[in-house]
Amino acid sequence: MKDKRLVIMVTDSHGTFHFNVNMLFKQISLYILIMIVAVIVFIVFSIGIMQSEISAIDTKKDILEQEFKKTLKINNFLTSEINQRLSEINIAGDKIDDLEDIIGVSKDENAIMQNNLLSRIDIANITGAQKAFIMKFIPNGYPMDRFLRISAGFGTRIHPILHIAHKHTGIDFSVRLNTPIYATADGVVDYAAMGWNGGYGGLIKITHSFGFKTYYAHLNSLVVSSGQFVKKGQIIGYSGNTGVSTGPHLHYEVRFLNNPINPYDFVKWNMKNFNLIFEKERMIQWQSLLALINNLMLHSREVQQQ
Ligand SMILES: [Zn+2]
Repeated sequence: MKDKRLVIMVTDSHGTFHFNVNMLFKQISLYILIMIVAVIVFIVFSIGIMQSEISAIDTKKDILEQEFKKTLKINNFLTSEINQRLSEINIAGDKIDDLEDIIGVSKDENAIMQNNLLSRIDIANITGAQKAFIMKFIPNGYPMDRFLRISAGFGTRIHPILHIAHKHTGIDFSVRLNTPIYATADGVVDYAAMGWNGGYGGLIKITHSFGFKTYYAHLNSLVVSSGQFVKKGQIIGYSGNTGVSTGPHLHYEVRFLNNPINPYDFVKWNMKNFNLIFEKERMIQWQSLLALINNLMLHSREVQQQ
C-alpha cells in the first residue's frame, strides 16, 4: 500500500508547522457525523414532545367540547325560562291594563274616543252649580298671582344640576323669593315640612277629592301643617330656593292616583275654558267623574228638599 498521507508544512518566524491532511479529513468527518447524529436525536426528541403536546391539546379540546355542550344545554334552558318569564310579563301587562281600565287610567284609544264622545254630550248639560263644584274640588288655575316664566315643563328633560335625563314630574314657575303660594283646590294637607325631602326642599302635599293631589316644592316657609283642611286660593306657604334648585322657583305637581300628570292644562283651566281640560287631559275618565258629581249634587238637593 502506498502511503497516501499528505503533509502541509507552514513556515514562519516562529518555526515550521506540520498539518497531516489525512488526519484533518478524518477529524472533520467525525465532527460532521456527530452533528448529523445530534440533529437526528434533536428531531426525534422534538417530534416526541410535539406528539405529547398534540395529545394534550386533544384532551383539552374534548373537555372544551363537553363544556360547550353543557353550556349549550344551560343556554337552552335559560332561553326557555326567559320565554316563560316574558309570557308571564305579558300576562301581568294585560292585567295592569285591566286594572288601569278599572281605576280610570286608560291608554286605550277606543276607550278614550268613546269617553270623549260621552263626555261631550254630558258637558253640554253641566249646570253652573256643577261647574262651580268641579272648580272648587279639582285642582285648577295658577298656584300664585305672578310668576316670571315657566322655566321647565313636564316630561323628560336633562336635569340642570345632575346632567342626566330624567322625567320632570311637574312644572317649574320661576318666581321671586317669598311669593305667596295658594292651594289650587279644596283639600287636606297630607304633608308639610321644610328640609331636604328628597330634593323637593320645603314641601307641601295636598290631597284633593276624586284621586287628585298637588305638590308645592322648594318653598321658603310654610303656613299650613299636616292634617289641616285648606280652601282653594288659601295661602299655604311662600316660594323659595330650597332642595335641588338653581334659583327661586315653585315646582308644582298635579297627581292623579299618585301618578304625576301634566299640570299645564290644569293651571290654564278656568270657568271660561271649562271644557278644554276634558279634551286635553285624556288620562282621566272625565265622563264617569262628571256622572258621579252629577249624582252627588242631585242627591244633596234631594236631601235638602226633605
Ligand atoms: Zn321642578
